[in-house]
Amino acid sequence: MVPLRVLTGPAGAVIVPHMVDTSTSTRLQGIGTTIFAEMSALAARTGSINLGQGFPDQDGPAEIRQVAMNAIRDGRNQYAPSFGVPELKAAVAEHQKRFYDLDFDPDAEVVVTTGATEALAATILALVEPGDEVVVLEPYFDSYPAAIGLAGGVRRAVTLRPPHFRVDPDELRAAVTARTRLLLINSPHNPTGAVLTDAELRAISEIAVEHDLLVVTDEVYEHLTFDGVTHRPLATYPGMRDRTVTISSGGKTFSLTGWKVGWACARPELVRAIYLAKQFMTFTSGAPLQPAIAHGLRLPDAFFADLAAGLQAKRDRLCEGLRAAGLEVFEPEGTYFVTTDIRSVGGDDGLEFCLRLPERCGVVAVPNQVFYDHVEAGRHLVRWAFCKTDEVIDEAVARLRIGLAGNA
Ligand code: PMP
Ligand code: GLN
Repeated sequence: MVPLRVLTGPAGAVIVPHMVDTSTSTRLQGIGTTIFAEMSALAARTGSINLGQGFPDQDGPAEIRQVAMNAIRDGRNQYAPSFGVPELKAAVAEHQKRFYDLDFDPDAEVVVTTGATEALAATILALVEPGDEVVVLEPYFDSYPAAIGLAGGVRRAVTLRPPHFRVDPDELRAAVTARTRLLLINSPHNPTGAVLTDAELRAISEIAVEHDLLVVTDEVYEHLTFDGVTHRPLATYPGMRDRTVTISSGGKTFSLTGWKVGWACARPELVRAIYLAKQFMTFTSGAPLQPAIAHGLRLPDAFFADLAAGLQAKRDRLCEGLRAAGLEVFEPEGTYFVTTDIRSVGGDDGLEFCLRLPERCGVVAVPNQVFYDHVEAGRHLVRWAFCKTDEVIDEAVARLRIGLAGNA
């Protein structure tokens, strides 16, 4: 094994984001342990408050969990149909109709996956030929470069810049070449918390139509938007329904990230292609969890509104605390995350900052730079998760105020 980049963190911890093992296939080279696993391990090792990996510290609705327990009790414990259990496919189609007025045939246009992660990987493996280009927004979720790399694709990153992390349509258009196969779009966007506006969605759809591109949209934070901002699926825009693969999952919407029940919706030929890839990765998963997520998707509107309102209050709490600790805060419109500029507290490298943070403050965060091809654009940015109890947020903020004091 040849470590390409070894950094010594607090308490002697060694973080190795990128390792090359000569026995590993070339497609896996350059792929390291994900930053989320690294940072959660760092939090556990140092006993720090984990505002790194995005998972809520309170489980989702008891009634959803009860449906899963009933399913286990009632013997729904063998392989589920590999396209997904019928009630979940139907519930996904109903959900797309109810919230977005999108019509999908549950039998031909919905496939259930092991989280959005598998839906993304299966879609990219199904649609990208070696050498094809995939345009992504950076910072990007870290499974995108991995899946594109496994497919032999080449990514072209379009940078979103603070303070508002908007898409520049000219930059997006310039990233499209004759080799472009896919646009891979994420909104609400991790890690910046930006939610694509109507104008941005219109511009993206125009570019897709003009160049006859397929588009993959990652919408896992679709119900987590704040201040009256609403999520609009790209598939609702003119010319987009049949060229878009819409991906989501139950993890964030139901605060059940460990269940890993996801799905993709698209026209039948695309769903069939995704299914071909999916069937040899997992075939099927989560048999007793699928009916429970179906139940969740059918919850009344008040559930979805309360979820967003509760998170908005947590966002406000953490943003205020981070500002009080001296950080420049880019307030998110959605997701679990807030991005900050650490230069206001004397830092300039987010990776170094995050590796020292447990020692300085007993808190873990995530350096945004690992989500960029153009690392300089994100070097000074750090992401914090607010999907935590008020007590945890308050304690983290108190520690940051003390630990970062005097550095601003
Ligand atoms: N996309 C984004 C933008 C994410 O933040 C995550 C993390 N949950 C995923 C996809 C993966 O979702 P899942 O846990 O359902 O696989
Ligand atoms: N989506 C989560 C985040 O961004 C992490 C998911 C994972 O660990 N793969 O923090």
